[in-house]
Amino acid sequence: MMNAIECSINEKYLIQLTEKYGTPLYVYDTCKIKEQYRKMQKAFIGINKLEINYACKANTNLNILKFLKKIGGGLDTVSIQEIEIGLKAGFHPKKIIFTPNGVSIKEIRKAVELGVRINLDNLSILEQFGELFKHYAIGIRMNPHIMAGGHSKISVGHVDSKFGISYYQMPHVKRILKNTGLKIDGFHMHAGSDISDLHHFFSAYDVLFQTAMHFPNIDYINLGSGFKVSYSKEDLKTNLISLSHCIKDKFHDFCNTYGKNVTLIFEPGKFLVSESGFFLVKVNVIKQTTSTVFAGVDSGFNHLIRPMFYNAYHYIENISNPKGPFRFYTVVGYICESDTFGLNRKISEIREGDILCIKNAGAYCFSMSSNYNSRYKPSEVMIFNGKDFLIRKRETMKDLLRNVIEIKM
Ligand SMILES: *Cc1c(COP(=O)(O)O)cnc(C)c1O
Repeated sequence: MMNAIECSINEKYLIQLTEKYGTPLYVYDTCKIKEQYRKMQKAFIGINKLEINYACKANTNLNILKFLKKIGGGLDTVSIQEIEIGLKAGFHPKKIIFTPNGVSIKEIRKAVELGVRINLDNLSILEQFGELFKHYAIGIRMNPHIMAGGHSKISVGHVDSKFGISYYQMPHVKRILKNTGLKIDGFHMHAGSDISDLHHFFSAYDVLFQTAMHFPNIDYINLGSGFKVSYSKEDLKTNLISLSHCIKDKFHDFCNTYGKNVTLIFEPGKFLVSESGFFLVKVNVIKQTTSTVFAGVDSGFNHLIRPMFYNAYHYIENISNPKGPFRFYTVVGYICESDTFGLNRKISEIREGDILCIKNAGAYCFSMSSNYNSRYKPSEVMIFNGKDFLIRKRETMKDLLRNVIEIKM
C-alpha cells in the first residue's frame, strides 16, 4: 500500500478529453490525490494518532471531497457552506473542523448545531462563545508571529496578520475560560501557504507546543498546512521527510512532557490536490507584436486567477505539438484587462487551435473562478478508477441569469 504509486496522464488522453468535453476544461486525477495522501501518511508513520484533513477551499467539488473521505481523510473548512458540502459528501461532523476567520457568532452557532469541531481565533468571539456554549469544547487558533509563505497574500501567521490569537494573549484566553467555564481541547496554527523554508515551520511549531503545554485537557495539536508543491521542474517543494523527522521529535517530546498521547492533525489543501489538476485551454489566436509573440487562449483570470492575483507560476505545455521546436511565447487570456498566464515561456511551437495544458490546476483554481466578462465557468472532469467522469457541467446563459430579477422599465 505504501509504495509510490506512479500516476501519469498522457497528452493524447488529455487531448481526447478536450474533444469529448470541450475547452476550457479542468481535469483532476484521483490517482495523484491518493499518491499525495499516502505520501503524507508514510512520512508520519510512528505517530499513533494522525489525522489528515483536507482543506477543501482548495477545491470544493463534491466528488473531490467524497474521494478524500473514501481514502480516509477528514475535512478542514472555513465557511458554513463548506461544512454543508462536507456533510453532503458524507463526512461525519466530528471529522470536519471549522476554522473561520472574521465570521459572525451566528455562523459559529450554526456550526455548533451541525456538530462540527471548531477552532476560534478571536478573543471577542471566544468570550461570546463561552457565554453561549460553555459545554462545547473548542480549539484555539494561535498566531505564532512568524513571517512565512510564498507571497504576502498567503502569509497568515505573522504579527500583523488578522489570523489567530497571539500567544502573548494566552493569559487573557485563560481568564475567559475561567470566567465562562469553556474548555479548550486543542491548539491550532496555520502559518501560511507555499512555505519552503523549514525553519519557519519549526519556530512556529515550537511556539505552539510551548503554549499548549500550559493548558490542561489538550486532546490534539493541529499544525495546519503550508506545504509547498513544486510548480516547475526546478522549483522547490517542502521537504516532507526532513519536516516529518523534526515534527515527530518535537511532537514526541511534547507528548512525553505533557504526559498524554494526543492526536496530531494536518490540514493540507494544495499538497493533496494541486498536482492532480490540469487546466486545458485552446489557442484562439497567435498575435505577433513588435516585442513578443502572444498566444491568446479561450480562458482568462475568470477561470484561473493565481498568476495574476499572486504571481503564481503555472507550467504551460503545448500538448498538441509536444515535439515541435521551442519558441518563446507569452500566454494570455481573453479578458479585457491584462491577464497573463505565462510571460515569455519556452513552449513547443504553438499554432491556432492547439491545446495548452496548464499544470498544478487542482488547488485554488476552479474554486477561485468567477463569471467576469459574463463568461461561463468551465466543466470539470475527474479521472477515477481509470475512467473519466464529468463532475461539473459547463455553465450556460441560464446560469448567468439565474438570480437576476428583471424589473419593468
Ligand atoms: C487554506 C488553509 C489551509 C490549507 O493551506 P494549503 O497551503 O492549501 O495547504 C489549511 N488550514 C487553514 C486554516 C486554511 O485556511
